[in-house]
Amino acid sequence: MSKIVVVGSNHAGTAAINTMLSLNKDNEVVVFDRNSNISFLGCGMALWIGGQIKGSDGLFYATKESLEEAGATVHTQTEVTDIDFDRKVVYAKSIDGKEYEENYDKLLLATGSIPFVPDIPGTDLENVQQVKLYQNANEVIGKLRDKNIKKVIVIGAGYIGVELVEAFQRHGKEVTLINRSTSTLSNYYDKPFTDLMDKTLKENGIKLELGQQLIELKGDKKVEKVVTDKGEYDADMVLLCIGFRPNTFIGRDKIKTFRNGAYKVDSKQMTSIKDVYAIGDCATVFDNSIKETSYIALASNALRSGIIAGNNLSGKEMESVGVQGSNGISIYGLHLVSTGITLNRAKKIGLEVEYSDYNDLQRAEFMENENPEVKIRVVYEKESRRIVGAQMASKYDMHMGIHMFSLAIQKNLTIDELKLLDIFFLP
Ligand SMILES: Cc1cc2nc3c(=O)[nH]c(=O)nc-3n(C[C@H](O)[C@H](O)[C@H](O)COP(=O)(O)OP(=O)(O)OC[C@H]3O[C@@H](n4cnc5c(N)ncnc54)[C@H](O)[C@@H]3O)c2cc1C
Repeated sequence: MSKIVVVGSNHAGTAAINTMLSLNKDNEVVVFDRNSNISFLGCGMALWIGGQIKGSDGLFYATKESLEEAGATVHTQTEVTDIDFDRKVVYAKSIDGKEYEENYDKLLLATGSIPFVPDIPGTDLENVQQVKLYQNANEVIGKLRDKNIKKVIVIGAGYIGVELVEAFQRHGKEVTLINRSTSTLSNYYDKPFTDLMDKTLKENGIKLELGQQLIELKGDKKVEKVVTDKGEYDADMVLLCIGFRPNTFIGRDKIKTFRNGAYKVDSKQMTSIKDVYAIGDCATVFDNSIKETSYIALASNALRSGIIAGNNLSGKEMESVGVQGSNGISIYGLHLVSTGITLNRAKKIGLEVEYSDYNDLQRAEFMENENPEVKIRVVYEKESRRIVGAQMASKYDMHMGIHMFSLAIQKNLTIDELKLLDIFFLP
């Protein structure tokens, strides 16, 4: 029997805890989380804020009680403050001041990520919001009811920022999206695809201010203006959506870390310290498209890494198969999905690639009813012809198609092997 201590019980932690408790009932599992709730699905945040779902109840799938029923000891609102890796002891303190000193045989770090806050003046002004936790979303929803909040500025046009602009506009707010790069979603899609998204946002009344560097937020107690290197914009509320960084302040000086500070892990999720594992947004992944260790903060990766660590911590060997960073977004009826790397990113990292673009119809050409176009780009390595990325866009929900490309990247399939794949045909 081993004693396993888990730090953090959101998506990665919960997946690992459930896996461990189902595989080996003899192990003792002790969990610490500083939050009051667990398993909040951030992916539903924009739908909740935008009123497309009735409330937040469906955005949770586990509780302290459900993990305890399964056999764990769970301390919520209790922050782990330090870890002695030599003596194998975790130190924690609860919100009401109770202190814990918990020894472990094996340790699982699932401390996730925290929003990146730029080092500029004004980020502490009232109505400057971050979006990560249930509590953050609840606060934003409360503020949206305030009739004085008319102009909302979202800074950062990654998938969270883009989802939120639609949500705010659904409340009748005047919405501006500011981004450093010259298009939205530029980390996940190439220009022909981001152009479609930019056009869709503009057509739906979102003001796009792209290619601008954020300099300052101004105001007297409350935020009033956003200043960039290209202009000044009036704002009653500002959302900072400029990315996340791994939350690895514990043990950063002892555990080997990646260039952005994430705990480096091997294919079994083990860190550089024996008996210490790390999963989810606080850890690295192996990216099959570039064949390198990387950092991709997604709930889908968090769950898989939790299952892998859960198996290994229960004495059942399991190795990661790597990830492709598959992702999707659906805004004002435009669906974009991608996997692997873009042509643009391949150029930036010096990977020699070629690509193939085409537009197809969702149904056979002779079909007379609505027949939306599907735009596809496949990126493949020049010499080996191995597929390294794919992007798709359509007004039709074709998202299942991207899974084939994700598997192709994972399995090192070449563009030539894919072209003769047996795909069914039905008008
Ligand atoms: C608005 C939004 C939308 C998103 N949409 C998607 C999506 O559509 N698809 C997708 O795949 N991903 C999405 N994500 C990303 C996804 O939410 C994260 O990748 C995921 O939450 C990572 O899970 P995690 O458990 O590794 O980390 P986290 O969710 O960051 O959880 C870490 C946990 O550790 C706890 N913790 C941290 N430090 C300590 C400490 N010292 N002591 C005790 N407890 C601690 C925290 O309280 C927290 O519960 C979205 C994120 C956001 C914010």
